[in-house]
Amino acid sequence: MAKIGFIGVGNMGGPMALNLLKAGHNVKVFDLSEEAVKICVDAGAEAAESAVDAAKGVNIVVSMLPKGDHVRGVYLGEGGAIAAASEGTLFIDCSTIDVATAREVADAAHGAGMMMVDAPVSGGVGGAAAGTLTFMVGGPAGAFEAAKPVLEAMGKNIVHTGASGNGQAAKICNNMILGISMVAVSEAFVLGEKLGLDHQTLYDIASTASGQCWSLTSYCPVPGPVPTSPANNDYKPGFSAQNMLKDMHLSQSAADGYDASTALGKAATELYEKYVSGDGETADFSGIINMIRES
Ligand code: NAD
Repeated sequence: MAKIGFIGVGNMGGPMALNLLKAGHNVKVFDLSEEAVKICVDAGAEAAESAVDAAKGVNIVVSMLPKGDHVRGVYLGEGGAIAAASEGTLFIDCSTIDVATAREVADAAHGAGMMMVDAPVSGGVGGAAAGTLTFMVGGPAGAFEAAKPVLEAMGKNIVHTGASGNGQAAKICNNMILGISMVAVSEAFVLGEKLGLDHQTLYDIASTASGQCWSLTSYCPVPGPVPTSPANNDYKPGFSAQNMLKDMHLSQSAADGYDASTALGKAATELYEKYVSGDGETADFSGIINMIRES
């Protein structure tokens, strides 16, 4: 079993670290939130004093942080995890960040004689808890093979997407689909309400017809049809509207940088911007249906 340092044990990282413990790994955790650390320590993890401490004396470092700046701050520089780790350490960054930062950090790790993969996830907090996440893994084939057994303790679908940064590219494209499709499903339910259609009836039809998609069948934005969706829990995240907006912005800056046409991505981004600047500030992204209903 591996010695693993885990940096960032929030909504996603917490249950992922618990699954590593369940698989028998020796896990040392660090987070700025003492509460988040305590949950892992209560389940058998060791508490590290800092991100650097979490990277010392381990074979593998896993990170699950909010944004590219956090990842750069934790890994790079003289006080960073790369400088603190033993040679040959495998770094697995599961955060969703921009492709350029993922490649910059991977280059720094490779330059220091380490292995690194970017391995963002899909599947949400439920998938993290159940150990059924999909990992989109970018990096050299050897690093992917080394990371795979560890990722298998936290996920079900482990896909090698190519070179460093390609995991993030896959994640950004996937989440642009998700952001657009949640708006589409929400608009359809609101239109259905105005036309006198019952939610369950529309769900029963669309979920077995050509409107079927994850935003509908796993994360339905109205209460009732999918009991586990945040709509049944007052739109508490789940996957926050803030995080969705972050991912939509990542897709739009990538589209601008690579001259890709994403008209629906742009329109959906503007809707999430409006939602997050109002009632959606602390809500799940599926709560955008309430803004659409009130528009
Ligand atoms: P979160 O805010 O719950 O967790 C992030 C954790 O990182 C927090 O506990 C925070 O205290 C910690 N942190 C921040 N800076 C740190 C630092 N310098 N050192 C140590 N800890 C630090 O967020 P989350 O929902 O767990 O999301 C994490 C990442 O996963 C994001 O990139 C997000 O886009 C991605 N993601 C989230 C979901 C989801 O459903 N929540 C799904 C897929 C991907």
